[in-house]
Amino acid sequence: MSMEELFGSLVFNDQVMRQRLPKDTYKALKKTIDEGRHLDPEIAGVVAHAMKEWAIDHGVTHYTHWFQPMTGITAEKHDAFITPVENGRVIESFSGNELVRGEPDASSFPSGGLRSTFEARGYTAWDPTSYAFIKDGVLCIPTAYCSYGGEALDAKTPLLRSMEALSRQAVRVLKLFGRDARRVLPTVGPEQEYFLVDEKLYRQRMDLIFTGRTLFGAKPPKGQELGDHYFGAIRPRVQAFMREVNDELWKLGVLAKTEHNEAAPAQHEMAPIYTVSNIAADHNQLTMEVMKKVAERHGLICLLAEKPFAGVNGSGKHNNWSMVTDTGYNLLDPGDSPYESAQFLLFLVAVIHAVDVYQDLLRVSVASAGNDHRLGGNEAPPAIISIFLGDELTQILQALEQGTAYVDHGHQLMTVGVHVLPRIPRDNTDRNRTSPFAFTGNKFEFRSLGAPASISDCNVVLNTAVAESLRLYADELEQAEDFHAALHDLIVREISAHKRIIFNGNGYSPTWVAEAEKRGLLNLPTAVDALPHLTDEKNVALFTRHRVFTETELRARCEIKLENYVKIIGIEAETALSMARREILPAVMRYTGELAGQASAVKRYAPELSAVAQERLLTRLTQDAAAISDRIEALEEAVRHLNTSQDALAQAVYQRDHVLTAMEGLRAAADDAETLVPRDMWPFPTYAELLFQV
Ligand code: ADP
Ligand code: MG
Repeated sequence: MSMEELFGSLVFNDQVMRQRLPKDTYKALKKTIDEGRHLDPEIAGVVAHAMKEWAIDHGVTHYTHWFQPMTGITAEKHDAFITPVENGRVIESFSGNELVRGEPDASSFPSGGLRSTFEARGYTAWDPTSYAFIKDGVLCIPTAYCSYGGEALDAKTPLLRSMEALSRQAVRVLKLFGRDARRVLPTVGPEQEYFLVDEKLYRQRMDLIFTGRTLFGAKPPKGQELGDHYFGAIRPRVQAFMREVNDELWKLGVLAKTEHNEAAPAQHEMAPIYTVSNIAADHNQLTMEVMKKVAERHGLICLLAEKPFAGVNGSGKHNNWSMVTDTGYNLLDPGDSPYESAQFLLFLVAVIHAVDVYQDLLRVSVASAGNDHRLGGNEAPPAIISIFLGDELTQILQALEQGTAYVDHGHQLMTVGVHVLPRIPRDNTDRNRTSPFAFTGNKFEFRSLGAPASISDCNVVLNTAVAESLRLYADELEQAEDFHAALHDLIVREISAHKRIIFNGNGYSPTWVAEAEKRGLLNLPTAVDALPHLTDEKNVALFTRHRVFTETELRARCEIKLENYVKIIGIEAETALSMARREILPAVMRYTGELAGQASAVKRYAPELSAVAQERLLTRLTQDAAAISDRIEALEEAVRHLNTSQDALAQAVYQRDHVLTAMEGLRAAADDAETLVPRDMWPFPTYAELLFQV
């Protein structure tokens, strides 16, 4: 099959709809999709029938509503297309009702107390803007998932709401510029990093199996120091994996585009071509799922944890974000007329305002137990949120603020709406990789996300926060008598109010921490520091004003994230204990026993001979064994004292301050022992094997 035939071959996309739906139905559905309207039940019936026929032609027997509960992964429950008729026969059927609405018994999904058990069922509702597709022989209907009270129980619902909010406000602003855009859509291109390790090695490590990351492991002699993996030639086994991932993703209509080796050994990246954010979010979930599945077919395991290996770069996800009008105009493109320049500057300051005022929310949106090991570790952006604009754009804003002329490359910019912005060369804006939030020519790149994150969370924040800046601007400018003068004043005022968030320097440098503090920027080093900000008054006000979250929904989400943190640390601690007690300590003891036997054998053989080598090792290893034993006790003690009657925040603080630190202590002693015990006596594969045997 050619690539063109392959692409989207498992998607009920526009082309298929046009072919298979009656003209009227197609038109009505298209209108629903383009304008974000509600779907007429009669149309739903016709669409469902066509979808079923199409699916059956592809050998499909089941359908599922495909949704994204707050477990971070996608959920599905398969139903066959069968309906019994008389005489014990069945027919294949799929009704409009079954298409648009499902009622999974979802009492086991996290709800943060939103859904009491007596009304355990939530319901799923079709998101017609995201095409149905066939995965593993099942027709998947992308849906949003809510409680009966209408509260969002998933990642998608708030994302759709935030897109609405952004569109509403952006259209108001565009109207002031004489543009008659009917909708504005946020666009996203998420770059996805991941590790591949050998499946046989993986199966020997309880930590990888239960937690997705290594809890023990001494640094190998070689890591990423030489930089010889980044963009290096892709090994055949990995190449075969990538080819199959691409094929699978193309069939699903995912625009998989770029692939390369990343900085760490065994680390890789895939980037799709950007698309509208809810589709990008669905596609990124599919991408992660396909990567995991295809890896196993190649005897590999795809690790998506934020930091699978200590001392080696972790995996993130870069959320490239912009806004586009329904007429295809990128609002973060500087353009080349005075008019476009003015409009660009207004949208630019809207983002700067949003990121400054809602830095806490952006930090919250990437907060997880796993990402704490990555952020601020000189491999990923610091936990402090700031914006990189590049020197040229920064100087332009400075000149505007100070009322001086900016002259460069034969251009000059003095007054917004009168003068043109100079072209901002992309490579100028893209060099600083230490910034969490960088302008890269015609979009912003948010780089703080951990690899396994749903991109929904941060896009909900971005869309809503920018909607709020735009709302304030529209309120002000709609009243203005002289639009251009008012626009100029507003932009200048915004630059001076929010320029503290702009930082073009090295985000990894310790001096930045001090500087950021002086500027009054937030530094929330751990998820536990960040998460409670979700329900700060100003944030509740933001989300409720734009109808993205109710206060109840926000509180529920905060609760779920904190509970998740507590559970993850709990599972990690139990796993570490089990490995230390049942694998590491016995191995160390076996070897010290052997050494002691040898030492006394040497002495017995000839007392004048030296057993110093054995004795030296014995000294160090028996010290390690004692330390491991002590620290097992300490960790057990810490785990035992978690007070589960406290609220989620108190428990999370406890896990971070007591359990996590006890785990780190245990690890240090075990990792030292690993460097002394022969490989054939060490109970599980080492970093060297995991990272260099693919
Ligand atoms: P880099 O590795 O230099 O950051 P890549 O080319 O790997 O760059 O990734 C850039 C990502 O940004 C791609 O997914 C691309 O489709 C996406 N992108 C480009 N333009 C936009 C836009 N207007 N809106 C959102 N994403 C975009
Ligand atoms: Mg990038």
